Amino acid sequence: MPSWKKDCPCSRANEFMKPAQFEYLRAASIAEAVAALSAQAGEGKIIAGGQSLVPMLNFRLLKPLLLIDIMGIAELKFLEETPGGGLRIGALTKHHTLETSPLVKRLFPVLSEAMSHVAHLAIRNRGTIGGSLSHADPAAELPLMAVLLDARIRTASPEGGRTIAAADLFVAALTTRLLESEIIVEVELPALAPATGWAFEEVSRRAGDFALAAVGVLLAVEKGKVSSASIAMMGVAETPLRAARAEALIKGRAIDASLLDELVTAVRDACEPNTDLHASADYRRHLVGVLARRAVIAAWKRALGEQP
Ligand SMILES: Cc1cc2nc3c(=O)[nH]c(=O)nc-3n(C[C@H](O)[C@H](O)[C@H](O)COP(=O)(O)OP(=O)(O)OC[C@H]3O[C@@H](n4cnc5c(N)ncnc54)[C@H](O)[C@@H]3O)c2cc1C
Repeated sequence: MPSWKKDCPCSRANEFMKPAQFEYLRAASIAEAVAALSAQAGEGKIIAGGQSLVPMLNFRLLKPLLLIDIMGIAELKFLEETPGGGLRIGALTKHHTLETSPLVKRLFPVLSEAMSHVAHLAIRNRGTIGGSLSHADPAAELPLMAVLLDARIRTASPEGGRTIAAADLFVAALTTRLLESEIIVEVELPALAPATGWAFEEVSRRAGDFALAAVGVLLAVEKGKVSSASIAMMGVAETPLRAARAEALIKGRAIDASLLDELVTAVRDACEPNTDLHASADYRRHLVGVLARRAVIAAWKRALGEQP
């Protein structure tokens, strides 16, 4: 190879666009996947849709010795209404299913709406809820939805598994409280109060890009006042956040212009954005306030039965 070519950064980049060697196992059951993961003692990795894992393998940010493919496990593929009007979502449910399912549109329209902002159709058609929550990207829509909707995440592990509240799952960017041999099997969403108003607002640089910031809102209204509120945001901290002070501020009150100003301040105060090559921290802080204002207005209108 001519020396200019050997030293060219592009040719070096190509060297690292392939994963390191690994063994591959297609698990047929949850028990088999957990046992294989546990036997690898930290050197194994679950692969579901592969939409986040494969790029990390190709860049050699991860070099597992064994990939355990869970896409063939029938026990992880379900989407069903609970008796109380909530949802049980199997870990292999894809973004596209959550976006288009009539059941999700009826029970959790905010979730369908948020899913339409995830990447591009080809990615939504492979990526799964279990993969997205485990990957814990700070700008991913499903972790935000899990926090907004008070999701409960059910896991399986050699010890038998447990249920983790979404608020406790995310620790930092790309870091969750899942243990080395623990896999997500199901996500449960508790039912919303009747006639809950909802909204999802997001800004990304181009359609399909990861969000610069996004806000999800749920508002229940009784006798013209907010009876309960859930406001969550992402892209403005290492993990999705609930704007607890803003939620408390609007509870028991009707939404008007001066309350919205107070709310925007509370939302901006709650976030801890970083500057990166996509946007400055100041821009993200500003943006999240704008999105929160829009989302609360839209959710309020929906709760009152008006068009947002
Ligand atoms: C170009 C591009 C743009 C994207 N844009 C967005 C976007 O705008 N918004 C967004 O949210 N996402 C985006 N993504 C990421 C995408 O949504 C991924 O599909 C998702 O984050 C991971 O789901 P997956 O099933 O593909 O998981 P995988 O890539 O297979 O796995 C991801 C991680 O989760 C682990 N894992 C997978 N399933 C489980 C499980 N059940 N239990 C425990 N661990 C598990 C894996 O070991 C791995 O560490 C984008 C991806 C690409 C390539």
